[in-house]
Amino acid sequence: MNPLSALASGFLDLVLPRHCAVSGRPLLDDETGPVAPEVLREVEVAGADYCTRCGAPQGRGVGAIKECASCKAYRDGFGTREIVAAGDYSGVLKEICLALKFGGEQRLAPVLAAWLAQLVFDRGLADKVDAVIPMPLHVFRRFRRGYNQAALIAAPLAKTLERPLLTGVLKRTGKTERQARLSAAQRKGNVADAFEVQAGRTSDIEGRRVLLVDDVMTTGATLGAAARTLKKGGAKGVYGALAARAVLGADS
Ligand SMILES: [Zn+2]
Repeated sequence: MNPLSALASGFLDLVLPRHCAVSGRPLLDDETGPVAPEVLREVEVAGADYCTRCGAPQGRGVGAIKECASCKAYRDGFGTREIVAAGDYSGVLKEICLALKFGGEQRLAPVLAAWLAQLVFDRGLADKVDAVIPMPLHVFRRFRRGYNQAALIAAPLAKTLERPLLTGVLKRTGKTERQARLSAAQRKGNVADAFEVQAGRTSDIEGRRVLLVDDVMTTGATLGAAARTLKKGGAKGVYGALAARAVLGADS
């Protein structure tokens, strides 16, 4: 949000009732979060049934599995040791992701970060990561949007995990096309050279296990390219944290 609209929305908060960032209904005084409680309750946050490889939530009673139908086709994996996803990219969780990314609803980032922090603790990963890195945005897109939604999620997550937040270490090279219309194979080739470690910053990641944070993962091509770049840059291992796991070909 630019300073002027931040000022304007701050002013509007004073004179108008606050609204749920998803449903738009006015919030009551004791409803302090950005999302109305009845909307929040609809989100199916991942629990004990999940795929460690891609983060996709699984059916009840399945437990933690190392590969699932959603990631089986991705032979090379994602360059990560394990991936945590708050849930499927559908329903209210999808609406939250969209409102954060395109609707300017930056206040939704801490909601997603809280779910992710809980999962990171529950799955015993908190002690396995040394630093948190947000997925970088293209410079021009960051400029147009005014913020990087992954960085907004990563900041409170790093704080809760009590790990340093490393920004500016992983960079986009600019050598990519938009991913949305490409096939899985095309996406992978498209992003192979998409990232680099900022010159002079390798010491930030050398020998460290990093938690790479993004909002949505579809084929994992972008996450994989970023993770491999970090490892090439000296990181000892990479874990992924995603607000939502989208499955290519599913209704999304
Ligand atoms: Zn999987």
